[in-house]
Amino acid sequence: MYNEHGHFFALNALPPEGREVTITDQSVWLTPLAAFHMACTVRRPLAATVHMLPAANGCLVRGALTGEVLLPCSRCAEDAVTAINACFEEFEETPALDAAGNPLPGEESRIVFHNNAPLLDLAALCWEEFVLALPPAPLCAPACRGVCLDCGVNLNTALCSCARDETDPRLAPLRALSLKSR
Ligand SMILES: [Zn+2]
Ligand SMILES: [Zn+2]
Repeated sequence: MYNEHGHFFALNALPPEGREVTITDQSVWLTPLAAFHMACTVRRPLAATVHMLPAANGCLVRGALTGEVLLPCSRCAEDAVTAINACFEEFEETPALDAAGNPLPGEESRIVFHNNAPLLDLAALCWEEFVLALPPAPLCAPACRGVCLDCGVNLNTALCSCARDETDPRLAPLRALSLKSR
């Protein structure tokens, strides 16, 4: 392990049958969450199990990511408890090197070189798999009623006196459309 700037695994040290590591260091996720100012709070610690299998020009990576986060509900913006339960499988290709042993410009890879030895950047892998596992439209509850488009009140907890002929929030975008076209 090369730990100067995170979690790096020396691919040269992989036995032919591969190796499994478990990442539970929360900074792997908390550091980029803070850096990108993402509205996401870890509620149950995240954990990634990563199995690395050596291959001719890289490494086959299989794993699972679990945990629980709070995201803003896409309808009402209150906390949406979101379970993270993802499986992933990727082939990490060793980047092409120039004569001096440096990666060619433009080569994007999670495999980096340190003292000419290829290292898999597990922190980058775990972060990217986490981002992919986030739902595009989190909900606080499947039946979340959202907010009133007119006065902004949270319709899950209060009623407002705005005129409404339809309470199904799924029709709200249509209603907004017909209002605009009037
Ligand atoms: Zn909601
Ligand atoms: Zn209202």
